[in-house]
Amino acid sequence: RVIVGKKVEEGHVNWVIAYNMLTGIRFTVSRTNAKMDRELTDADFAARHKFSFDITGNELTPSAKYDFKFKDYSPWVFRHLRAIFGLDPADYLVSLTSKYILSELGSPGKSGSFFYFSRDYKYIIKTIHHAEHKLLRKILRDYYRHVVDNPNTLISQFYGLHRVKIPYGRKIHFVVMNNLFPPHRDIHQMFDLKGSTIGRDFKEDELAKNPRATLKDLNWLRRGLHLEFDARIRQVFLDQLKRDVSLLQRLQIMDYSLLVGIHDLGKGNEENLRETTLKVFQPGGEREADDHSTAMLTRTPSRMENARKARELRLTLKKEKPVPMGKASTRMPSEMSSGDERRDRIFYSYDGGIRATHEDGSGGDKIYYLGVIDCLTHYGFIKRVEHFWKGLSAPSAQISPVPPQAYAERFLNFITGITMTPEEVERRGTLESYR
Ligand code: ATP
Ligand code: CA
Ligand code: CA
Repeated sequence: RVIVGKKVEEGHVNWVIAYNMLTGIRFTVSRTNAKMDRELTDADFAARHKFSFDITGNELTPSAKYDFKFKDYSPWVFRHLRAIFGLDPADYLVSLTSKYILSELGSPGKSGSFFYFSRDYKYIIKTIHHAEHKLLRKILRDYYRHVVDNPNTLISQFYGLHRVKIPYGRKIHFVVMNNLFPPHRDIHQMFDLKGSTIGRDFKEDELAKNPRATLKDLNWLRRGLHLEFDARIRQVFLDQLKRDVSLLQRLQIMDYSLLVGIHDLGKGNEENLRETTLKVFQPGGEREADDHSTAMLTRTPSRMENARKARELRLTLKKEKPVPMGKASTRMPSEMSSGDERRDRIFYSYDGGIRATHEDGSGGDKIYYLGVIDCLTHYGFIKRVEHFWKGLSAPSAQISPVPPQAYAERFLNFITGITMTPEEVERRGTLESYR
């Protein structure tokens, strides 16, 4: 899996959708940001607002290039989340709306989701299944609490939840989240780890064709890798992971993975231009068409350029009149969320990741980019899929998903194992089930 995708420009199959997503985000996020900050109320978690965009515009929405409907969910909760995660409101808007250019990566997983990167590669828009959307709405309060209580959480950072619909099109739900990988560094190896072995092997001989593919559990074991952390960091990492996983387990979530990106400081950056393969939407269809033609090359915009745009936008935002508040406006505004209120965020503190450490605490020659991703799948949903496959007489053991608790245990066991050298694992007798 590579970081650079296909540019979505006018004429691209998904141009209209991408344009509408960004227009909707820009409008709704500016609308919320323009108001005085205040404390969250119960109603904020359930809130949803629907907007109609058309070419003429109306008293509520400005004119847009296309007709579409846009739904914004829990805008105040996400505004607070963005502040807690330390995002600058103006930067966020610039990244997501800059000339409406996104890069699209077709669906890399089996789920049929699409991934779009903001032009500066800081943010990912992931289209999600309706069931995932419902789940995020349901767990939003628990998620929010968890993020507040756990400044070092490894779980995906959600910045917004929206829905877009074009005339005669289906409803497309999507989230905006953090790209775990930095725009300015090559990721030399990437792993998606679940702690299971069934189907968790990326064919090694395909690696030559696609050297930046996302590898899996068995590839990790085969390489005898381990996360090089000193005892303290390892403990912080495992403690945090335990807390994160226990939340997911309590919410009956499974199928998540630990995404691990490794930047080798010794290798550095080879090139700034990368090529990739492209998969595209089948208009109206659930699955993508396979198109392995080489897509165009895109260059990451300079940080300077973005900083300048953010400054300009900040100035315009200041000039904007605050929009009158809704019902909940009687609450006293809380103290402004300053952005950098979480003290450490240690897993993202070294150039967006965490540096490897030797036993004596000195710095190693790798940067790790770590996060728990794909955490919106409820057990009930998996069960339904499983029944479907069982009906097709697949050997049930091979696909049989374990319940959330067993999933969590297996996951933690595996990840604990990868913080140890193979010899240590041998000594402690963990990971038995993987050999
Ligand atoms: P499936 O359900 O089949 O696993 P999915 O469509 O739900 O697939 P994810 O598992 O969320 O997709 O992600 C697929 C891949 O996309 C990951 O293995 C990783 O390479 C990349 N990816 C996902 N989320 C992020 C992120 N936040 N930052 C960087 N890369 C990501
Ligand atoms: Ca996944
Ligand atoms: Ca998924």
